[in-house]
Amino acid sequence: MNVYHITYEPSFRILDLHFWGCNLHCLGCYKNFEIHDLGLNENAVEQLSHAAPAEPPTHFFTLAEVLHKTQGLDPKYTIFMGQEAIMDPELPALAASLHERDHSQQILLTNGLKVGDLKDIDEVVFSFKTYFKAAHKRYTGQTNETIMTNFKHIFDNGKKLQAEIAYIPGIVEEPDIKQLAKFIAGIDKNILFRVTSYFAVPKAPWHSATREQVENAARMAKLYLNNVTTVTSEEKSGQWKPVVVS
Ligand code: SF4
Repeated sequence: MNVYHITYEPSFRILDLHFWGCNLHCLGCYKNFEIHDLGLNENAVEQLSHAAPAEPPTHFFTLAEVLHKTQGLDPKYTIFMGQEAIMDPELPALAASLHERDHSQQILLTNGLKVGDLKDIDEVVFSFKTYFKAAHKRYTGQTNETIMTNFKHIFDNGKKLQAEIAYIPGIVEEPDIKQLAKFIAGIDKNILFRVTSYFAVPKAPWHSATREQVENAARMAKLYLNNVTTVTSEEKSGQWKPVVVS
């Protein structure tokens, strides 16, 4: 499989399965500098701005190993996260086995470019990069028409959906986030929409977003959507203390 890292947060009972491999090339991708769960180090976000390039993982688990290593954890939520989990052809089989064994809420985090077998995924979180096409091409190397179509397609198929976007000063700002909010509202005003903050990484030209920038963009989104939340890099994890499973 493409799974190389597994963490578990016992207070909130969240199992995170980290997959390697992506079909976008985001200029601000932090995975180029930290491949492990950012929650393991409370200063991880601050350290990213001057981090050295990270080596990609060299060891991956088989499906049987993932099941064995996660045996007995009792997750309430299981998150298939990235890089891009949907690119792993064994994801449907893993999701089916975990669903049957753990009965947890299974959540896929995705950039939305590829849609696969979502039978054992209970909820999909789309991590949009930008709404404006030229900015999307510049930031990710790809246009975003397929992503927008896939979002609507998954909604129309009755899957529970969330959406999020990071405010990136200088490239993803209020006009972009406003248009994305309008697009989502055209599908369903009640879809949960989260505005997060970009955190600076080496070589990318953008500063980290401030709380004020994120909150102003969220206020704009609230003009169109009923459920808008924010997460900024200035917030500390509090009780959130994941541990390494493998
Ligand atoms: S979609 Fe996510 S994992 Fe893939 S390149 Fe962009 S930020 Fe990185």
